[in-house]
Amino acid sequence: MATPIPHFIDGARAPGRSGRSAPVYNPATGEETGAVALASRDEVEAAVNSARAAFPAWAATPPLRRARILNRFLRILEDRIDELAALITAEHGKVLSDAKGEIQRGAEVVEFATGIPQLLKGEVTENVGTRVDSHSLRQPLGVVAGITPFNFPAMVPMWMFPVALACGNCFVLKPSERDPSAALLMAEWLKEAGLPDGVFQVVQGDKEAVDALLYSPGISAVSFVGSTPIARYIYATATSQGKRAQALGGAKNHMIVMPDADLDQAVDALMGAAYGSAGERCMAISVAVPVGEKTADALIERLIPKVRALKVGPGTDPESEMGPLVTRQHYDKVRGYIDRGVAEGAELLVDGRDLKLQGYEDGYFVGGSLFDRVTPDMTIYREEIFGPVLAVTRAPDYATAAQLINAHEFGNGTAIFTRDGDAAREFAHAIEVGMVGINVPIPVPMAFHSFGGWKASLFGDHHMHGPEGVRFYTRLKTITTRWPTGIRAGADFVMPTMQ
Ligand code: NAD
Repeated sequence: MATPIPHFIDGARAPGRSGRSAPVYNPATGEETGAVALASRDEVEAAVNSARAAFPAWAATPPLRRARILNRFLRILEDRIDELAALITAEHGKVLSDAKGEIQRGAEVVEFATGIPQLLKGEVTENVGTRVDSHSLRQPLGVVAGITPFNFPAMVPMWMFPVALACGNCFVLKPSERDPSAALLMAEWLKEAGLPDGVFQVVQGDKEAVDALLYSPGISAVSFVGSTPIARYIYATATSQGKRAQALGGAKNHMIVMPDADLDQAVDALMGAAYGSAGERCMAISVAVPVGEKTADALIERLIPKVRALKVGPGTDPESEMGPLVTRQHYDKVRGYIDRGVAEGAELLVDGRDLKLQGYEDGYFVGGSLFDRVTPDMTIYREEIFGPVLAVTRAPDYATAAQLINAHEFGNGTAIFTRDGDAAREFAHAIEVGMVGINVPIPVPMAFHSFGGWKASLFGDHHMHGPEGVRFYTRLKTITTRWPTGIRAGADFVMPTMQ
C-alpha cells in the first residue's frame, strides 16, 4: 500500500486536496511506497498567505532568539541523524553513510546560520557630513521559496532555509516529488525546536506548484537547484515577476590529471568522485582529462579493475559503495547515454548496463561504467549524464585540457591533480569554473563559504549559503541621521526671545 505523503502547513502535516498525486518508489526494489500530493495553485497560494501572516512577528523576533531555535534544530538533527538518513535512503537509494554525509553538510549550514546576530551587523560611519551620521542594515525580504532537486533531499534545502529563516524570512519549500519525505521530517523538527507555525511550509508538487510560487505576489525571492533547462526557466520567470532569484543548474565537472600527479591518489579520488552516490551529484567528476598518452594509459590501467570491483547494492547494506539510480525513468536515461556513447565511437571499457542483483531484480541498478577516448563532439561529453559513468578525454598538454573546460557549457566544479604549484596556481587563476579543487576532487565549499558555479551552472548573482546567502536573503537599508541641537545645549535661564 502506497502511503500518502502530504504537505506541511501551519505547523502540521496537511493532506493534499487537489486530487492529484505522484508515485514515490524505493529505488532498490522498484516498489511503489508512497503517493505524494501534488499541490494545486490554490493550495500553494493558501500556504504562501499563511506564511505572509507569520512574517511580521518572525521578522521582529530578535536574531539571537531565531538563532536559538536553529541551535535546537541542530541538536535534533545530530541526535536523530539515523532516522532522517534511513528516510533518504528509502526514497533516493543512496547508501546510508552517504545519506548521513549529506545531513552533516546541511547541518553545517544550520551551524553557520546560528551565528546570525554577528552576520547581520551593519556598517556605521560617523560624520558623513557635519554632525550627520550614516548606518546601514540588512532586513529580511518576506516570504521566500526554495525549489529543490532529488539528489540531496536534505542538504540542498538546508543550503537555503537555515540562512533564510535566520535572516527573518518565512520559507516555503517545494521539494523534489521523487523523494519528498525528508522535507516533512525537517519541518516537524523545526517546529519541535520552537519555530512558530507558518514560518516554514512544505508544499509538495510538480510544475503546477512551481509556477504558482513563481507567479505568486506573496513570494519575494526564489532559490532553485536542479537541471539547467529548468534553472533557466525559473530565473527568467521569477525575475520577470520582480522577484529576486538564484537558480543553480547542471554540471559536467572535469578533473585534469597532470603527468606529475600521484596516480594512486588521483585514481582513488576519481573513484569516489565519479561513482559515489551513483554519480547523482552535481559536483561528481564525470570527465577525467589525463595529460599525455602515458598518463592516460597508466590511469586507465589502474581504473579498470577498481571500476569492475565497485560494490553495487541496496543503500541499506553497509557493504554497498553505490546504490541504485533514483527512478526507472532515470535508469533508462543513463543506460541510453551509454548506448549513445558506444554508437558515437567512444571505447566502453567497463559496461554497467546489464548489472543484475540477486533479490533486487526490479531495482534501478546500473554498474560503474568507464569510457575511454571520449571527444568533445560526443553527446556523452556535452550532456550531463548524472549516473555512474566516467568519461576519459585525453589531452596532449595542459593548455588543451584547460581549454576543454573553459569551452564547456557548464562551469560548476573542477579539479586538477598535480605536484606542480605553478600549474595549480595558473589553473586556479584562469579556469572559468565557480568551484575549483587542487588535489581535491569534489571542492564543495564549507557552509561559511558560498556554493555556486559559473556559466550554465548558475543563473543569478548570488551563490548559496555563507555570506552570499545572507546577502541574497536580506535587503540593504542605509539610514542617514541628523539631529537638531537638543536639550544637551543646556538649561535655559533666559527667555527664548533673549537668545
Ligand atoms: P529537475 O530540474 O528535474 O528538478 C528540480 C526541481 O524542479 C524539482 O523540485 C522539480 O519538481 C522541479 N521541476 C521539474 N520540472 C519542472 C518544470 N518543467 N517546471 C517547473 N519546475 C520543474 O532536477 P532533478 O532531476 O531533480 O535534479 C538533478 C539536477 O539537479 C542535475 O542536473 C544536477 O546537476 C542538478 N543539481 C545541481 C546542483 C548545483 O548546485 N548546481 C546541485 C544539485 C543538483
